[in-house]
Amino acid sequence: MSSIAQEVGKRRTFAIISHPDAGKTTITEKVLLFGHALQRAGTVKGKKSGQHAKSDWMEMEKERGISVTTSVMQFPYADALVNLLDTPGHEDFSEDTYRTLTAVDSCLMVIDAAKGVEERTVKLMEVTRLRDTPILTFMNKLDRDVRDPVEVMDEVEEVLKIACAPITWPIGMGKNFKGVYHLLRDEVILYRSGQGDRIQEVRRIAGLDNPELNAVLGAWADDLREEVELVKGASHEFDLDAFLEGRLTPVFFGTALGNFGVDHMLDGLVEWAPTPKPRETESGIVSPFDETFSGFVFKIQANMDPNHRDRIAFMRIVSGRYEQGMKLRHVRLGKEVRVADALTFMAGDRERAEEAFAGDIIGLHNHGTIQLGDTFTGGPSFRFTGIPNFAPELFRRIRLKDPLKAKQLQKGLLQLSEEGAVQVFRPLRNNDLIVGAVGVLQFDVVVARLRSEYKVDALYEPINVATARWVTAEDPRVLEAFQSKCYDNVALDGSDNLAYIAPTMVNLQLAMERHPEVQFHKTKER
Ligand code: GDP
Repeated sequence: MSSIAQEVGKRRTFAIISHPDAGKTTITEKVLLFGHALQRAGTVKGKKSGQHAKSDWMEMEKERGISVTTSVMQFPYADALVNLLDTPGHEDFSEDTYRTLTAVDSCLMVIDAAKGVEERTVKLMEVTRLRDTPILTFMNKLDRDVRDPVEVMDEVEEVLKIACAPITWPIGMGKNFKGVYHLLRDEVILYRSGQGDRIQEVRRIAGLDNPELNAVLGAWADDLREEVELVKGASHEFDLDAFLEGRLTPVFFGTALGNFGVDHMLDGLVEWAPTPKPRETESGIVSPFDETFSGFVFKIQANMDPNHRDRIAFMRIVSGRYEQGMKLRHVRLGKEVRVADALTFMAGDRERAEEAFAGDIIGLHNHGTIQLGDTFTGGPSFRFTGIPNFAPELFRRIRLKDPLKAKQLQKGLLQLSEEGAVQVFRPLRNNDLIVGAVGVLQFDVVVARLRSEYKVDALYEPINVATARWVTAEDPRVLEAFQSKCYDNVALDGSDNLAYIAPTMVNLQLAMERHPEVQFHKTKER
């Protein structure tokens, strides 16, 4: 058996942040190709999952051709074992996407080089700032006519406030995309189109001064030499500390579709991205090298089997060794549970987990006893912090078709909010139930699940709410005064925390200015 330190040293756990259509799925595919694990893991293998009972919700998933679920893929690359956590991105964008970013040690930012920095990327970057997560950057689609690479890098620096250190530099673009120059290795790597479905045999030319370059690139060779001089002078040099502190991002260029450049990025990830980090608890810091097992739940995926209301709780391991059949302490409940059948996510080999270490994700079957943010340990009682709720960005009023079911509705909504996909707000001034979410699909999911799991027929309708913030104040009297002054805009969330519900962003701004003694929060620690 290898030591915990050895195992931890191998792990790199990351997620991809990008705007829809930038190429996340394509890159994931190529990454798995390099990991020799093309098969997509995360679909749970087991006797139950072969015969998914049908619910409206599952139908909805199928119809839209999207997965409402986050999957985890583990694969070897070089000497490392990489965990890639999927971040739902299109319509299935949700709070889980945000929360997943608090469970990784680094992120890959994928940018469509024809478009530059897009809105979703800005939001996701903001979340990575909560933990100063190190960011690698891949500028994608160089096989198209993209924007001037210098300009796109400038935009990243300006909009996302992170310094860019090009590691590779593109030679041409679109039909004339010839490859990249690797600034650290001082070599040119040549691109051939039409090789996107495989690991390419690439031609490398060592040294920018190499006369071979002229033979291969013709007039492009001197242009490249000049450009590289300019870029070196005008951009940041890679600095490991600055990267690890989230202040600087190494930038790679390529085409995911053409499978070119993804491996350069992976080499960088394995070399520089942090191994599993220590995590804070309410009573101190837990090191990944601690012998005692610990982990926290960052996502709950419902409806794997609606007949049994089975859910999978995704747990990020923080320390120790998970072994099949071991006993774990469910800290919030103060109970010991035996975990016989946790799932792991080794891509291509989806057998049950026998062993897992810090940085790995395991899936626990959950019959409703596990909540988001729960801590499990090999004995001691402590709780991890830093698994927040995020203020919703979209709001709907939920209405019952049958008014007699008000109790079930409330119960169902509160339970769904515990899973963390949506949040429920109850205004003080009336009996409305307002559901807030980060992604628009969640409202359909809620209505479908209310019907199938709680036998409640509900519908949602627009409501004039632009945003919400949790509010706190050091002095409880201040909060009370705030509550009565802003009575019309105050609500309680699913856990009875006070929130300010703003009809417009301007209204929020004014409320913040008028009540400087009250703190308005975009995230809430669970
Ligand atoms: P996601 O929404 O971020 O997951 O993006 P996808 O990976 O689904 O890609 C969106 C579209 O861009 C698809 O049609 C891809 O084939 C295309 N695409 C992805 N990478 C490249 C690339 O490097 N070059 C070109 N030309 N198209 C790409």
